[in-house]
Amino acid sequence: MICKKCGEEKPKDEFHKNHQMKSGVLNTCKVCGNFGRVARQHSLDDDTLTFLYSQAACRCCGTTFKTLYDRNIHHTENGVQGIICCRCNRSLGQETETDLLKIKAAVSYMQADRAVICRVSELPARKQTPSRVDINLRHLKPIKDTKKKATHCACCEMELTEKFVHHVVDEVYGIVCRRCNMLLSDESPDQLDRLLACRDWIIRGQEFRLIHG
Ligand SMILES: [Zn+2]
Ligand SMILES: [Zn+2]
Ligand SMILES: [Zn+2]
Repeated sequence: MICKKCGEEKPKDEFHKNHQMKSGVLNTCKVCGNFGRVARQHSLDDDTLTFLYSQAACRCCGTTFKTLYDRNIHHTENGVQGIICCRCNRSLGQETETDLLKIKAAVSYMQADRAVICRVSELPARKQTPSRVDINLRHLKPIKDTKKKATHCACCEMELTEKFVHHVVDEVYGIVCRRCNMLLSDESPDQLDRLLACRDWIIRGQEFRLIHG
């Protein structure tokens, strides 16, 4: 099959099924179809979209894109801000003051010396293995107790409406809000670098991230 839009020869499963077509599939490939859908969603012209999709790396943290699907159009109420990776997209949110505050809090939290509430693997009973931490956390007494007492996020200090147990592999650090849990993610050096990039992205503002530049 040759895509009518990009002109590339691709296997049939790279095209969406469509019973109205003689070939049984649409004549533009999935990638091009998605491209068009995104453009309509963001009211972008073809040139801008082509430019955005030709970017090789996240405009915010610099992570190289592997596939077209790694490219996320980041937009706020001020419009499209650039092509970035999905992790930066989630961290930046709408780039509000609160988004910035949470990113800053996550950076400080990751850089601080924190006490470990408990190590799941050292707890008695049940088969606690690091890979099963998520499943077992809520049953563990020290965690249940900490969770019960927690009223504010250990990271951003905002009042908790939902409580998430933040842990890295089997070390439990604290009870955090949904957003902070997501920002802290695996607490890898990569994630810290990404958060620092997101913080700078918001602080430096519009001129720092010119779409065409
Ligand atoms: Zn195509
Ligand atoms: Zn990124
Ligand atoms: Zn929080």
